[in-house]
Amino acid sequence: MKQVYRYIDANRERLVGLTKDLVKIPTVNPPGENYEKIVSLIEKKCIKLGLKTKRIETPRSILKKSGIKPISKRINLIARWDIGAKKTLHLNGHYDVVPATSSWKTDPFKPIVKAGRLYGRGVEDMKANIASYLMAVEALKVAGVEPGCNIEFSFTPDEETGGATGFAYLVKSGIVKPDYAIGEGYHNSFASYGNKGIAWFKIEIFGKSSHSCEPYKGINSFEKMILVANELLKLKEKVAKRSTSFKTKRPVDRHPTMVMGGELYGGSKTNIVPDKSVFTIDRRILPEESVADVKNEIIAAVNRLKKKDKDLKVKVNVITAEAAAVLKGKSALFDTFSRSIKKVKGKEGKLALLSGATDMRFLIRKGVPCIGYSVDGGNTCHCDNEYVKIKSLIDTTKVFADAIASIA
Ligand SMILES: [Zn+2]
Repeated sequence: MKQVYRYIDANRERLVGLTKDLVKIPTVNPPGENYEKIVSLIEKKCIKLGLKTKRIETPRSILKKSGIKPISKRINLIARWDIGAKKTLHLNGHYDVVPATSSWKTDPFKPIVKAGRLYGRGVEDMKANIASYLMAVEALKVAGVEPGCNIEFSFTPDEETGGATGFAYLVKSGIVKPDYAIGEGYHNSFASYGNKGIAWFKIEIFGKSSHSCEPYKGINSFEKMILVANELLKLKEKVAKRSTSFKTKRPVDRHPTMVMGGELYGGSKTNIVPDKSVFTIDRRILPEESVADVKNEIIAAVNRLKKKDKDLKVKVNVITAEAAAVLKGKSALFDTFSRSIKKVKGKEGKLALLSGATDMRFLIRKGVPCIGYSVDGGNTCHCDNEYVKIKSLIDTTKVFADAIASIA
């Protein structure tokens, strides 16, 4: 592998250049722009590396279900390095990025290098990974190192809007059905092996409006909302005491979380008793918790209040709910990947549960062991002035190269 590592070091500028080229194409989602352009660039590079490529468009019926107008195509690119092995390792990269605000110090789509960092929208999430994958293949090919099993890449759209019209389609349709997979996740000495679940609720509290000079004629939805929020705070305290037996990066990540009021609105005028108040809940779910229990706990808290207050009218709406995705049990993938981290970083690779979800969850639910590993940008995903550390770009490429050569 020394030769492979040396090649990666020697081609640092080209690796940075490729990352920049990917960032320069503003694949902003929503709405999902320039997909064809970036797929063409990645495909050209893959063909040059001798990979077999195939474009797969997400069917219109699936776009329709997700409310996407089929003006822009949703293109998934598959690239294979087949060695005739029994097993296949899949590496995924989503090429869409979230929009950039106007508060960036530089143009988010004109990537620049400054003090060992490469700045640009989507560089950490997750275009640097895509460049790393491709450079890892190039280095292995030049050094004449065969992969441990068949290698399959997918470059997919729409992760930033839930993944249904990108990677989820490839998995659910059976187009992608590997033995192991690698996608985005933690970095440096940490790799992720799953993620917490998520449930979003919209809580609507209904009252009755009246003139504020005669408030007794109405029912104040805001005051009722305070009662509901207080009851849910008690639930939050109870929930926060739970912890997972799965490994996490920091002790604080062991617990479920419950954020109220991410969206909060209601009322219409100072001198009108408010007749409707609304707030949201973002609840992150442990592997040990079920989605049904999470829903029921919230409904039960509301029902306890309703019993005490006959005027209380509350509607609990579930916006989205997904269980955690993590494999129970061991996999050779985890040990091999940890060793790849150790070889490059000199530190034992550790596995940890992610708090946020990635596209890997679709494969994990099918029982496929998955690793999440990314180029380090100090958690600037979705932030202004997103960057990656160039040292990490090099190291991560080496880790991927080692993993591709070792995982069998
Ligand atoms: Zn991402």
